[in-house]
Amino acid sequence: MSAPTSVAVAAAAPLSVAEARQRIASAVAGHGPKACEVVDLMAALGRVLAEEVLAPQDVPPHDNSAMDGFAFAGQALVAGQATRLRVVGRALAGHPFAGSVAPGDCVRIMTGAMMPAGTDTVVPFERCEQQDDVVFIAPETVRAGDNRRRRGEDLAVGAVALPAGRRLRPADLGLAASLGLSRLSVRRRLVVALFSSGDELRSPGEALAPGCLYDSNRFMLAATLTQLGCEVLDLGRVPDDPQALDAVLRQAIERADAVVTSGGVSVGDADHTRAVLARHGAVDFWSVAMRPGRPFAFGRLERPDRAPCWFFALPGNPVAALVSFQVLAREALLALAGAEGDAVPPLAARCAEPIRKRPGRAEFARVRLSLGPDGHAQAQAWGGQSSAALSALVGAHGLAMLQPQQGDVGIGDWMDVLPFEGLC
Ligand code: AMP
Ligand code: MG
Repeated sequence: MSAPTSVAVAAAAPLSVAEARQRIASAVAGHGPKACEVVDLMAALGRVLAEEVLAPQDVPPHDNSAMDGFAFAGQALVAGQATRLRVVGRALAGHPFAGSVAPGDCVRIMTGAMMPAGTDTVVPFERCEQQDDVVFIAPETVRAGDNRRRRGEDLAVGAVALPAGRRLRPADLGLAASLGLSRLSVRRRLVVALFSSGDELRSPGEALAPGCLYDSNRFMLAATLTQLGCEVLDLGRVPDDPQALDAVLRQAIERADAVVTSGGVSVGDADHTRAVLARHGAVDFWSVAMRPGRPFAFGRLERPDRAPCWFFALPGNPVAALVSFQVLAREALLALAGAEGDAVPPLAARCAEPIRKRPGRAEFARVRLSLGPDGHAQAQAWGGQSSAALSALVGAHGLAMLQPQQGDVGIGDWMDVLPFEGLC
């Protein structure tokens, strides 16, 4: 192992989570690649919309029936009297009735079929009676205009259907399709270099020498980045050696918009990551008052004539790595990718079992969610809270965000929970 490297940044008191998030957010604001590409709708899930989508036509494109029934002119309805209509034809979805419907006549119509000319009201089959070609409607069964979906009721032509910066979800793709769009203009994917550092790390499939363990972070973080919509540049695992770190960092600087690393960011004899990062740019801060976590370095790597490459150096302990990523790096990477308005508020849940908490730092407890006896969500600390215990993370539904100033959490206390599902 090589000699410890001196760190080129002043040791500072840990930042609060709020301050760290704020510093990262303002540093990356307005940065990120602006290049766009056009993709097929089927390949657009999770991509960030480059420009707003305006409705090129009304949705639905024509008035249509919301029910299976009979379409007629509502003027035939008279208060307190039964209505009698003559059936003159049939309309199905995709097969409009060609003619015009005279007052007192009606057309047998199916859901989604275009409202025939002369009609504005539908009486559902189950709310009327038919004998041969005559339909009877009891008094006060329907009002004029009932069960008709208006043209443009979902979206009127020219309305903003999807805003720029939208990270596309399944419903967005459905909406785009309903507008007749087969392709969308999206931002190019953010390229994020990823490597793990540590002499002790081995890749799954390799034999473990004494004192070694498998590199779990890289697989977990690559998957998380992929779910975020990033293109992952996997740079493998790197030994605790400043020269090797320097070489891999140069590759990241050359090829990526951001770099995510884990391990070697603390103050141990083998922790060289910060010093090597500082050679290529500026380490903004490297310690955050949170648990799990604390060692976490953020900053920029400079490169001539190009936007900086941002780095997020996570702690090595797997739970600490993932929690730090979700709490500190996730939103910044989304912002760099051009995504806007993506934040979902945390879920309020009652504490189901006391949680020990030391004031002075934010804590992120791994919790399982269930429905409490009062009908509200409740959260229970799950598995060991060790920053190395991935099994607890696997069983948990989310992170209870315990505020820095707060102490122990009692049964029934409200907590903010960040569910894992919905983070991406
Ligand atoms: P470090 O942050 O380098 O001091 O590492 C803290 C702990 O996390 C040590 O026990 C490491 O062995 C472990 N660790 C570091 N990197 C990884 C990794 N990629 N996968 C699994 N464990 C790791
Ligand atoms: Mg290490």
